[in-house]
Amino acid sequence: MKRLENKVALVTGGSRGIGAGIVKRLAAEGAKVAFTYAQSAQAAAEVLAVTEAAGSKAIAIVADNHSTDALPRAVEETVKTFGRIDILVNNAGMFSLNTIEDYSLQEYDDMMNVNVRAVFLASQAAARHMQAGSRIITIGSNMADRVSDSHGALYAMSKSALIGLNKGIARDLGPKGITVNLVQPGPIDTDMNPASAPHAEGLRSRMAIPKYGTPAQIAGLVAYLASEESGFMTGTALTMDGGYNI
Ligand code: NDP
Repeated sequence: MKRLENKVALVTGGSRGIGAGIVKRLAAEGAKVAFTYAQSAQAAAEVLAVTEAAGSKAIAIVADNHSTDALPRAVEETVKTFGRIDILVNNAGMFSLNTIEDYSLQEYDDMMNVNVRAVFLASQAAARHMQAGSRIITIGSNMADRVSDSHGALYAMSKSALIGLNKGIARDLGPKGITVNLVQPGPIDTDMNPASAPHAEGLRSRMAIPKYGTPAQIAGLVAYLASEESGFMTGTALTMDGGYNI
């Protein structure tokens, strides 16, 4: 018996990077998985091919985090297709760099809408369907706790906001037997933060383990949080960053 047999998961931003790693891992643990993406249809099809080859049931849903109705719709589509939702992973996110003098109001709105409002909307829609034993897991960032460079104010703010949201939702849903946790990665090798980028050596030099992590490592922690074993853990923020913030 696999750990997540008979469970249904929805992962936002599952076409690439950390989200794709989470989709594959949850499917390998036996869950039926719906995932969203905004633009990368080809990448989404490749993730579906991998999960199907492994004998799992999966669907891909176009849902842009900028929209207010896309994620509630994705939750409804998940429930319609698979009959329930037990696990929500809020992973989709954006990153942009600027200084306080130069940020535009549009950048502020985009960052908050994609990285925070969408988490609120998806969690709200999912919570309305979830039963005892369900899980909400959100991907934040170690930049919520420490900003070690310039140009990251809005991203750090958006990820810090998730700490409060995570704790509050954990209080609301704890009495119903639903746990709510935040995973805060450090440098993970994805399109958003390639290990080969010019800035990467600077990041590695600040880490206790001086190398980038992988989507599969984050997915392993998410799979634990999604499983029954983590049932006494809620409202926490778990940092996995190779010791960047210590
Ligand atoms: P990538 O840019 O590699 O992948 C992002 C994923 O999210 C893609 O599947 C993309 O789909 C989707 N996505 C992006 N924007 C939207 C949107 N507006 N609506 C719906 N889906 C969207 O990012 P990572 O995998 O690196 O990041 C995943 C999460 O991890 C993010 O929340 C990020 O902030 C966080 N994180 C990443 C770190 C890193 O070092 N990589 C470190 C700390 C945190 P599509 O291509 O279709 O748009």
